[in-house]
Amino acid sequence: MTESAIPASLPGWESPSADMPAAVGGTPLVRLRKASDATGCDIYGKAEFMNPGGSVKDRAALAIIEDAERRGILKPGGTLVEGTAGNTGIGLTLVANARGYRCIIVMPETQSREKIDFLRMIGADLRLVPAKPYKDPGNYVHVSRRLAEEGGYVWANQFDNLANREGHRLTTAPEIWHQLDGKVDAFTCACGTGGTLAGTAIGLHEAAKKAGVKAPHIVLADPEGSGLYGWVKNNDLSVTGSSITEGIGQSRVTGNLEGAPIDDAERIPDPEALEIIYSLLIDEGLSVGGSSGINVAAAIRTARKLGPGHTIVTILCDGGARYQSKLFNPEFLRGKDLPVAPWLDK
Ligand code: PMP
Repeated sequence: MTESAIPASLPGWESPSADMPAAVGGTPLVRLRKASDATGCDIYGKAEFMNPGGSVKDRAALAIIEDAERRGILKPGGTLVEGTAGNTGIGLTLVANARGYRCIIVMPETQSREKIDFLRMIGADLRLVPAKPYKDPGNYVHVSRRLAEEGGYVWANQFDNLANREGHRLTTAPEIWHQLDGKVDAFTCACGTGGTLAGTAIGLHEAAKKAGVKAPHIVLADPEGSGLYGWVKNNDLSVTGSSITEGIGQSRVTGNLEGAPIDDAERIPDPEALEIIYSLLIDEGLSVGGSSGINVAAAIRTARKLGPGHTIVTILCDGGARYQSKLFNPEFLRGKDLPVAPWLDK
């Protein structure tokens, strides 16, 4: 008889979850073998696609809802409104379903068909709006704020509501710290609201200070078409280029990003991110979306800069199935002059 295949203790397995929201977080930290071998470092991805709503944004959604409950502004049967690229809307709607709230989700119509279909499937009151820059009053964030004001609803306001990054400070960061016994030399992360980057970076800094060890090196991973790389490098938010990645890139310093301890930035072009996404899929069995490719690309570049022997952590934000019609669609990719994985053409 061989021993049971189930180890005595695994994070998240210790006790039954009280409800769906209790199942958010506690995600595995997966060693990325190819990236690690190529750099002589240990590169790990936090498997956030394993959250109940399929993305890192479940953590922010839960933190924002629990903060609104604590402050007494979200009452039983209440309604939440949010502007989102999709994943926050999915997290908010699922947590709201579990807790008896209603969700109105405002989303740019350019986001993937899969996220739109999923939001409809889970019962979100979905309002698609044309994609407009932040300075335009028709931008999805402003539309969501006005809807909340007019209806007397709770506006989740993920970009500037600090409950978002607080959720990561209190969960994502300590999980990573414990999973690696405090050996974290660097953390790379892209930014949409900045909640994941800032909250995790602040939490890791706090853990390092408490342990009396050097704080990890924090690197912003930025796609083309975002102003943040320039902001970190030379305090210039101007934007060039564009990206097919969704949910990341920013043209302003959000409330959540403000004051984050960022040491450096990497700007990653889409072809570099796509090659990594394809390799994670075919060489490592990990199906991830565009922002995860940007994050891992920045982790590899950071590993090369720091040299062998370092431990670098990044975030696998969501799964590839959310982008089948884009990242894994030869016609879409060719239309954008982007590389197509050979097996997609069969
Ligand atoms: N990746 C994906 C796929 C996302 O949807 C988001 C959030 N819009 C992010 C990364 C960025 O996370 P954050 O908002 O915490 O910066």
